Amino acid sequence: MPHPDEDRRDRHGADHSFPETGAAAARPQDPPPSGRRGADLVDLLQSPACVIGRSGGVRRMNAAWRAFADHGDDAGASWLRLIHPVDRYVAMSHLHALDGAGSATEIPCRLADRAGGHRWFLLSLQKRPDDACEDAALCLAFDIHAMKLREIDLERRASIQADMLDVSVDCIKLISLEGELIHMNRAGRRALGLPDDSPFGMPWLPLLPSDVWEVAESALKAAREGLSSRFPGRSRLPGQKPQHWDNMLSPILGADGAPAAILCVSREVSAEHDAYDALRQSQERLAAAVRVGGLGIWDYDILNDDLICDDVWHRIMGRDPRSPIRSVEEFRLLVHPEDVERATEVRRAAAKLVADRRDYAVTFRIVRPDGEIRWVRSVALVQSDAGEPRRAVGFVMDVTEARRGELALRDANRTLLRQKMSLTRQSLEDPLTGLPNRRHLDMVLAKLCGGEGPAGEIVCVGMADVDHFKAFNDRYGHPEGDAALRAIARALRSAARTSDFVARYGGEEFAFALNDVADPAGVLDRFLSAVAELNIPHADSPLGRLAISCGCIVRRRGEGMTPGELLKASDAALYEAKLAGRGRSVVRNAL
Ligand code: GH3
Ligand code: MG
Ligand code: MG
Repeated sequence: MPHPDEDRRDRHGADHSFPETGAAAARPQDPPPSGRRGADLVDLLQSPACVIGRSGGVRRMNAAWRAFADHGDDAGASWLRLIHPVDRYVAMSHLHALDGAGSATEIPCRLADRAGGHRWFLLSLQKRPDDACEDAALCLAFDIHAMKLREIDLERRASIQADMLDVSVDCIKLISLEGELIHMNRAGRRALGLPDDSPFGMPWLPLLPSDVWEVAESALKAAREGLSSRFPGRSRLPGQKPQHWDNMLSPILGADGAPAAILCVSREVSAEHDAYDALRQSQERLAAAVRVGGLGIWDYDILNDDLICDDVWHRIMGRDPRSPIRSVEEFRLLVHPEDVERATEVRRAAAKLVADRRDYAVTFRIVRPDGEIRWVRSVALVQSDAGEPRRAVGFVMDVTEARRGELALRDANRTLLRQKMSLTRQSLEDPLTGLPNRRHLDMVLAKLCGGEGPAGEIVCVGMADVDHFKAFNDRYGHPEGDAALRAIARALRSAARTSDFVARYGGEEFAFALNDVADPAGVLDRFLSAVAELNIPHADSPLGRLAISCGCIVRRRGEGMTPGELLKASDAALYEAKLAGRGRSVVRNAL
């Protein structure tokens, strides 16, 4: 597409270009002489020229204009008809504004050509009375078409560039080396609260908050010296939240390589600023919590085995933070040998912790250089990347005192438990013989009569009584009697099966309950023999040694007797054995 400047031909193919150089195109510096000679001069000029009469009609038009425009021979036709309709009003105003002889004005406007097109001219109007008309004006036209088209093109380009800059959300400013605003895009005007049609040329710095003047001035200075620079800024429009800016200044170099102007791009970083602020506050809170809580912090890069421990953690370990622990291998050496695996589990079990979405928590001991052992509790979060454990960040707390308290409490609990068991045992045990006591017997008999155990099982409940024991005590003394009772208790216990129950009923009497017994008389005989085999001399007994008499009742389990009835029946059987001469047994079979 040809440049508009090149299209000098109209639709009829006529060439209407005018020379813009040379004597013919030169604008006369001196006004033409007045009167007739001026009019003649009009004819001599190769640029379009005419004389305009009082009423605005063309009184005289030179050949150049006639060649350009089809004015016909209509002498006195309106001068305005030669001018593009859009420019007519301005042209007319200029013409009417001429005031008195010699007054002059200039106006760029389009003149109609003979092909119906238009071309740009600079019209020079000058009041020039002549012989015939006191109010005449001389109009000289100088072809500025190419220059004007270039100007229009430049204006269009500048407007496109301004539009492009206005699209940017960044504030873009062009600043002169003197610090004055040459141009600023829409975002910039809005950030500073300036109207869209605000003129430029004002100093830039005073538009900024005063607390950034100093840094902004240094940035300007650097840019003047050809260096890029940057500074953080802040602005606040009435009724709005403060905005934060990252201002970047770059020198724009001229053809000579020296800075000619300064470009300032200001990017709003309020969101980043707020996020940074929130992060800083959160870090401060964390630091306060860590300080108040006496927490140590560690950060472990799992892939690179890079361990970072803070000062508090070093102090807990009794180590100098200036010689930091940097790896798990180093750390292992400080852990109590029994706890090393547990303390370093995070590395081994990291994948599982991630898979199970579990945090790491472990209590272990560390050994200080002076040998002191401290208990610590470490909790950590394992961070992963696509399921792969990468990093663990943890807190450590010295829990030695709590741990000591815990251990003391555990010991106290154990003692209590032991005491309780001992008391229970004491309450159910005969202190002299160590056999279950009567209370215990009552419990066993209650269970036996209460239907516990296999129904229909044959059971046997009986009593054993030492023969002539009063006389034994009398002859050998009470302590000897106690020893004899202990010996008899052991003999009965060892003659019974593990599942049989043997108790001291009271005094020199014993009771027993036998489960699932096929031969009760045989068991009772074993009891008699066991005592006889003790062979404890008893000079005041017809048998010459200590002996027992036994009586028992044999029943089926669950056949409706009470403990009292069972004991009563046993006692009756025992009485029979006594009556029968002692040193024997009687079985009452109730089946
Ligand atoms: P029997 O053959 O009829 O049973 O005559 P016995 O003398 O054994 O019976 P008795 O009921 O008259 O006497 C029981 C004695 O047992 C009286 C008491 O001194 C003695 N005895 C009871 N408990 C103890 C004890 O714990 N230690 C000692 N050494 N003797 C006891
Ligand atoms: Mg007795
Ligand atoms: Mg007795």
